[in-house]
Amino acid sequence: MNNLLNCPQCGKLFLQGIRKYCDTCYREEEQQYDKVYRFIRKSENRNATIVDVSEATTVSENKIIYFIHQGRIRVKGYPNFTYPCDGCQNPINDGRLCQTCKDKLKSELSIEDFIKRKQEEALPSYHTDDN
Ligand SMILES: [Zn+2]
Ligand SMILES: [Zn+2]
Repeated sequence: MNNLLNCPQCGKLFLQGIRKYCDTCYREEEQQYDKVYRFIRKSENRNATIVDVSEATTVSENKIIYFIHQGRIRVKGYPNFTYPCDGCQNPINDGRLCQTCKDKLKSELSIEDFIKRKQEEALPSYHTDDN
């Protein structure tokens, strides 16, 4: 059985399949991935920053980080390419967390829980009325 869903990217209705997005957005994302991948593969772009990559490829920084989080793009060998740690926002170059957060994570349940908790900590806390 197929379900009609609104594409989270463009809002159009599409048939739910293995993909999270509609075909148009999926194809667009693949093209964006391709552009980023081709750009950073070139040795002359080894010193590029995330801003350089974003400008050269017209792919947003958030999207590039998304590809990195998915493990599809790796920038470990790129000295100037940093993006914020999911836990503390310090600049990192590999994976989703900096070493400090990774060390803290060892006592936590999972990376998802850890990041969720970190994001909740960053939000202002509200006190509920007793009555
Ligand atoms: Zn879409
Ligand atoms: Zn961190």
